[in-house]
Amino acid sequence: MKRPFVTKEQIEEIAKTYPTPFHIYDEKGIRENARALYEAFSWNPGFKEYFAVKATPNPFLMQILHEYGCGCDCSSMAELVLSEATGITGQDIMFSSNDTPPEEFAYCEKLGGIINLDDITHIEAVESAVGYLPKTMSCRYNPGGVFVLSNGIMDNPGDSKYGMTEAQIFEAFRIMKEKGVEHFGIHAFLASNTVTNEYYPMLAKVLFELAVRLAKETGVHVAFINLSGGIGIPYRPDQEANDIRVIGEGVRKVYEEVLVPAGMGDVALYTELGRFMLGPYGGLVTRAINEKHTYKEYIGVDACAANLMRPAIYGAYHHITVLGKEDAPCDHVYDVTGSLCENCDKFAVDRKLPKIDMGDYLFIHDAGAHGHSMGYNYNGKLRSAELLLKEDGSVQLIRRAETLNDYFATLDCFDIGKKLIHR
Ligand SMILES: *Cc1c(COP(=O)(O)O)cnc(C)c1O
Repeated sequence: MKRPFVTKEQIEEIAKTYPTPFHIYDEKGIRENARALYEAFSWNPGFKEYFAVKATPNPFLMQILHEYGCGCDCSSMAELVLSEATGITGQDIMFSSNDTPPEEFAYCEKLGGIINLDDITHIEAVESAVGYLPKTMSCRYNPGGVFVLSNGIMDNPGDSKYGMTEAQIFEAFRIMKEKGVEHFGIHAFLASNTVTNEYYPMLAKVLFELAVRLAKETGVHVAFINLSGGIGIPYRPDQEANDIRVIGEGVRKVYEEVLVPAGMGDVALYTELGRFMLGPYGGLVTRAINEKHTYKEYIGVDACAANLMRPAIYGAYHHITVLGKEDAPCDHVYDVTGSLCENCDKFAVDRKLPKIDMGDYLFIHDAGAHGHSMGYNYNGKLRSAELLLKEDGSVQLIRRAETLNDYFATLDCFDIGKKLIHR
């Protein structure tokens, strides 16, 4: 059973200062999980997690992860700038971008970050943007075809826009070696949100075998292999969570089977996890403000898809707990809706929940990654605040809620403030 990391009493207290809706993060859970990840891969001396900033671009959370050794995986100018401002620079930055504008390559190099090329044509793009090729370079690999896990879950690399073919990655390594690059990395992201302990070991086998062939045939020094993101979380209460220790051991076994015998026992392993690092440790807290009985039973809440888009755009399941009714029977069936003029703006459809009364607080689980960050302003909806529930039980505002002034800031050419009569 899924339990929120906050109680109704705590939320009632917090809501006196910070009105709903808001995202709240659990510092204790974040720290325990980061520690467990590093322990699971402690057998690999160079191991490093580059937190996928796009999942939750909040400097306070990035700083907590940085304490455990995490760097940042960036893919835009804003993410590079945010990492810099957070004090995470140099080789603590992995720039795994695609369709990259030249000024972003240049900025990454200024910060001393590692450029992970999505395409072979980007060798020239980097040379012309930066003026040279950095000594360390990485390439993203796409084996094509389909990638099938034994539980039947598959993803479709052959249909994905990312990465280079095998032939291209060999060619890219040869060209870059010739041009003076000394240390090489390989990266791949073949399946998303995998809730099985075998994804990383399977991916590791593909990448380790490729690394051995690349090293043999091109003579380059493979310094690191980046297993990227894709370790998932159990959004549904009946799913079993990944065990990061089992995953770490699974990868170790493949490492010892493939890399060590090839004399490559010094290769560092990197990850770029986003969802796994923060997903379960963030919730969206919202309040029931309307109920509607038509052909279905609707509960309208004060959050909407602008605060958490995954249900609207992917039909994703997010578990909901009605705070204070954790143990009440789920004997009602509701659609839980936001206020966007879009019928997809539903946090839950036909969901069995306890009876919801107006004013009840709903905790929408697993919103800690790809939650607030995906937010948008459609319908003029303002993005909510982000709060950190600290280990000592106190609450820290780590991003304030947007105001109408924020929303209208880009209309300064219209001077909207002067035209308002009633505000
Ligand atoms: C989104 C992304 C990640 C993180 O993915 P998760 O599913 O959050 O683990 C890592 N690397 C790259 C390049 C990404 O685009």
